Amino acid sequence: MSAPVIFSGIQPTGRKHLGNYIGAILQYVEGQDRGDPAIYCIVDLHAISVAYEPTELRQRLYDTTAILLAAGLDPSRCILFRQSDVREHTDLTWLLTAVTAHGDLNRMHQFKEKSAKQRELVPAALFLYPVLMAADVLAYKADEVPVGEDQLQHVELMREIARRFNERFGETLVVPEHRVPEIGARIMDLQEPDCKMSTTSPSEAGTVFVLDEPDAIRKKLGSAVTDSGREVRRDPEKAGVTNLIDIYAVARGTDPEAVEREFEGAGYGDFKKAVAEAVVEFLAPVRERYAELRPDEAALERILAEGAEKARELAAPTVAEVRDRMGIGPPR
Ligand code: ATP
Ligand code: MG
Repeated sequence: MSAPVIFSGIQPTGRKHLGNYIGAILQYVEGQDRGDPAIYCIVDLHAISVAYEPTELRQRLYDTTAILLAAGLDPSRCILFRQSDVREHTDLTWLLTAVTAHGDLNRMHQFKEKSAKQRELVPAALFLYPVLMAADVLAYKADEVPVGEDQLQHVELMREIARRFNERFGETLVVPEHRVPEIGARIMDLQEPDCKMSTTSPSEAGTVFVLDEPDAIRKKLGSAVTDSGREVRRDPEKAGVTNLIDIYAVARGTDPEAVEREFEGAGYGDFKKAVAEAVVEFLAPVRERYAELRPDEAALERILAEGAEKARELAAPTVAEVRDRMGIGPPR
């Protein structure tokens, strides 16, 4: 089998957290040498689907770029760019709305959850978010989409959109597969272990940010919600402990079974301390490299611009093909 085209996007909203790091960013780094190419996009156009500040958006975009580079993305081994620099994404979005069922968009969990949180207007952008996400991936005829588990429904929808397009207009688009990590596809909030760790979560205490100082990490893990039992083992009834076992396993590069054996007979207090130290060591190199990379915004812009140029070369022919199949514009 030939090397897959890998594509994924990440939002520049807020600060990136441990869930993003384990669920998505680690997979991006791994995909660089497997993908031909591996394409990663910072999705500023998705970020405007919720309330935001224009000046902050640019800052957060640089933050996210620097985090990705600090985590190990290497612009000579992958394509890293800003979504809005490649107009093909928005062009294709409108074309794909023609083969997207309104009823499917209405069923999306993310739309339901995020629209319920909006205090004033619910932007249509929030509703159309999955179509833009489909365009992101389908424009590159990507085979593989590394994401966290919360995005499975959106990947399922883009598969449906690609299939419907191909049925209606002839075989054109590639139906992509999702890829979630074996451990850590859904990192849970430390304070509310029944909810996923999230940028938009109201509880700072439940969210470990990639750039948190060691003491902040220790404090958050020290006060992580567990249960009234005392065994360090995975169990659907023990969401908090199960989450900590997964986090420790990923941070130490081992598997959950080995973690259960290591902490047999240990109390929750000692276990949480060990998880905290593992996470501190896991994230420290990223935070240090970030501090070196983030100040040079001109260098970050150069990397993004070069990435956008490569991305455009790949996306433009697909969009031209889609337009042609749909009878849009002059005949080719
Ligand atoms: P928001 O809540 O604003 O949607 P987010 O925390 O989900 O933000 P995104 O930028 O939307 O962040 O997600 C980037 C990637 O991280 C996606 O692939 C997503 O599936 C993954 N991801 C997000 N949260 C988690 C989590 N708790 N565990 C594992 N992966 C996650
Ligand atoms: Mg998200």
